[in-house]
Amino acid sequence: MLIFNTLSESKDEVRPRDGTTFKMFVCGPTVQDNIHLGHAKTYIAFDVLARWLLKSGHKLSFVLNITDIDDKIFERAKKENVPYMEIADRFLGDFLRDIEALNILTISKIERVSNYVKEAVQLVQTMLSSGKAYELGGNYYFDTSKADHFGKLSHQSEFQLRLKQIDAAPGKRNSVDFLLWRKVPDSSEGVWDCPLGPGRPGWHIEDSAIALAHFNGPYDLHGGATELIFPHHEAELAQDEACSGEIPFVSIWMHTGLLLKDGEKMSKSLGNMVTIKEALKSHSSDAIRYYFLKHHYKESFDVNLEELGSSGKELGVISQASKLLAKRAQTMKDLKTISEKELFRKFAMAMDDDLGTPKALGMLVKLSKEIIARQGLSIEKEPIQDPAPIFWHMVDTLGFGLT
Ligand SMILES: [Zn+2]
Repeated sequence: MLIFNTLSESKDEVRPRDGTTFKMFVCGPTVQDNIHLGHAKTYIAFDVLARWLLKSGHKLSFVLNITDIDDKIFERAKKENVPYMEIADRFLGDFLRDIEALNILTISKIERVSNYVKEAVQLVQTMLSSGKAYELGGNYYFDTSKADHFGKLSHQSEFQLRLKQIDAAPGKRNSVDFLLWRKVPDSSEGVWDCPLGPGRPGWHIEDSAIALAHFNGPYDLHGGATELIFPHHEAELAQDEACSGEIPFVSIWMHTGLLLKDGEKMSKSLGNMVTIKEALKSHSSDAIRYYFLKHHYKESFDVNLEELGSSGKELGVISQASKLLAKRAQTMKDLKTISEKELFRKFAMAMDDDLGTPKALGMLVKLSKEIIARQGLSIEKEPIQDPAPIFWHMVDTLGFGLT
C-alpha cells in the first residue's frame, strides 16, 4: 500500500518497520468541548486506514492521545468554577461516545497526556543534557538550530522560518524555538512539580512522550489534520529525532485536509462548528461516513449540509443490498456479470493507492445496485458467484455499521 508522505512529498510504501506490527499514532482532540464534523473527517480517515491495514493482514497498534492539559481547559474550568479535570473528564466521555457512535472502532489505545508528564520531563532532561534544549527564566525551549534541519516536514527554508515566531519570548536563541516545559506559579491548578521546576509540559512534547512510551522506538505512521503540520508536527519530529538519534524516527507523516465552513476552517474558536452530537440528530453515522469517504482524505472542502443529507439517500442502496444479502436470498447467487476475484483486486488497488476511498465507495455502490437489480433473476443459470463475501469485505473496510 502507498500513502502520501508529507515528509518525502511522495507516495511511500506502507510497511511495518519491525516486520510484524504496524505502529501508528494520531493526534487526538483537546478535551475542552464537544468534537465537530472536522474531527470526524480526520478520525474516519484513520479508522478506514486502520481497517484496511487489518484486512491486508497487518497487526496494528493504533494509539491516539487526548490533550487534557491545555490553557483552554483551564480557562473553561475557571469560567464554570469547577476543577479543570472535571472539564477534561466530561469532554473525554463525550468524545468516546461520539467516536463509538461514528463506528470508529480501530483505536487500540487512547492515552491521556496527564498520565505521561513524568515521561515528558525525562525527554526534556535528555535534550538538556545533549545541549538541544535550554532554560530561559524557568521555561525550557528546544533549540531548533540543533535539529536535523528544522522545517523539513513543513518544507520551509531557514529564511522563511526566520520570519515566523513560535512561543514568542525575549531572549530565545531562535524565533522558532518552541516551549518544552512552561513554568507555572506553584499556587495555580494543574502544576506538576519536577526537577525542571513547577510547571506543565508544552503541547508538542506530549505526543513524543506518549509515542515513545508505547512504541519504544521508531514507528511507522503519524497522522493528523493538515493544520497540525506546523508548528506541532514539525516540533514533534525535531524532539523525536533529538531524543532518539534515529532519523527518520517516523516513516510516514499522513495529513488529512481541512473541513471548511463558508471558506473558513471549522473550529471552536471561529464559532462555526457543527458538533457530532448535533449532526447525529439529523444524519445517521453511516451517512456522515459516506459523505466523507466520497472525498479523498487529503482534500480540504467546504461542508455542504445538503450534500450530507443526500448521502443518507445514496447510502440507501448499500443498506438495501445488505438486507437482500442478509436474507440470503438464493437469487443473489446469480450475478454473472461480476467476477468476484476481479472485484477484490480492483477494490484493493483503490485502497492501496493512498487510501482511494472515493473509488472504493463507488465500487460498493455499483455492486449494491447490481445486487438489487439482479434479485429477480432465475437461480438456474450459471456460473454461480456469490457477491456476499466481496460485499461484506467492502462494507467492513469502509466501516459502515448498516443498522
Ligand atoms: Zn498532537
